[in-house]
Amino acid sequence: MKQISFLFILIIFIHSSCQQFKRPSIAKMNQEYSVKNSTLNDSVRSEISQIIWENNKKNTKALPPFIYYAPHQDDETIGMGASIAEKVRLGHPVYIVLLTNGANEEILKYLKSIDSNAIMKDVTQARNNEFLAACISLGVSKVFISNNGEGFDETMGKENLEDKFEVTIRFFSDLYPNATHNTVSGNCDSYNNECHKMSTHQAATNALHKLFSNKIVKEINLFRIYIYYNNINSCDRPCSIIKNSKSKDHKVKQKAINQYKLVNHTKKRYGIGYYHSVYALLENAYNSKFEYIDFIENDSIK
Ligand SMILES: [Zn+2]
Repeated sequence: MKQISFLFILIIFIHSSCQQFKRPSIAKMNQEYSVKNSTLNDSVRSEISQIIWENNKKNTKALPPFIYYAPHQDDETIGMGASIAEKVRLGHPVYIVLLTNGANEEILKYLKSIDSNAIMKDVTQARNNEFLAACISLGVSKVFISNNGEGFDETMGKENLEDKFEVTIRFFSDLYPNATHNTVSGNCDSYNNECHKMSTHQAATNALHKLFSNKIVKEINLFRIYIYYNNINSCDRPCSIIKNSKSKDHKVKQKAINQYKLVNHTKKRYGIGYYHSVYALLENAYNSKFEYIDFIENDSIK
C-alpha cells in the first residue's frame, strides 16, 4: 500500500513538473513603489562591488548566506525570484549582486524620445531603479553593484567579462566563506531557435565554473532565464531540477516582476524591463510557478 501511494505521488509530481506554461496575460500594474534611502554599512563597501542598499532588519538566525549574481537587471527576478523569496522566508541572509551596467542602445533611443538630452548613464540609472525596487520586493538583505557601483560594460567582450566576474565572485566568496553562490545557466539557455546563447550569461556561468573547478566555491546553483520564452527547449538538454515554487514565494516573485512594469517618469521609472526589453520573459515567468536549475557538474564551459 505504501508503495502504491508513493507511486501515485510520484506520478502527480512528474505530471505537474511537465505542465506547459499558460499563455501570457496582462498582469495588473503594481502600486507605486518608493525606494527609501538607507544607511550604508562602510565595513562592507569595497572597490569591487559597492553595496547600494541594505535592509535594516536584524537577522537573528545564524544560517549560511545565499548570493545571487544577476548579469543584467531583471535576471534575478525572472529566473530566480521565487527561489530568492524562499531563502528569505527561511531566514537566510540573501544578497544580490548586479554584474553589468545594462547599457543598451535601443533603450537609450526610447529615453531620448522622452528627453533628448538623455545619455547612456540615464539608461543604467533607470534600469537600476527598477532592479533595486524588485530586489527590495523580494525581501533581500543587501544589494550590491559590481565595478564599484558602476556595473561592467558588456562591450568589453565575453573573455574580459569572465575575468571581471571571476574577481567579483571571488571577492564575495572571501567575504562570505560559507555562502551558496547562484547565477544564470548561461551555457544551456538558448534565447532563440538558432540555439544562440547570451555571451554575458555564459561569462557569469564560466566565472563561477572556474572557481568551482579551482575548489574556491563549493555550493552553486545555475538558473535558466530564456527558458521562459517557452519555445526553444529543443536546443538545450533538460535541466537538473524543475522546481515547483510554493504559492507564497511565487506571489513575492510576481510583486518583484511588477516593479519592471512600473511607469512614473518623475521617479525615473519607465517600465523598461517589461515594455522595452523582455516582455515575454517577464510575462511568462509571472504566470509560471516553475524555476529551472542546473547543477554545476552538468555545465560545460563554452
Ligand atoms: Zn540577462
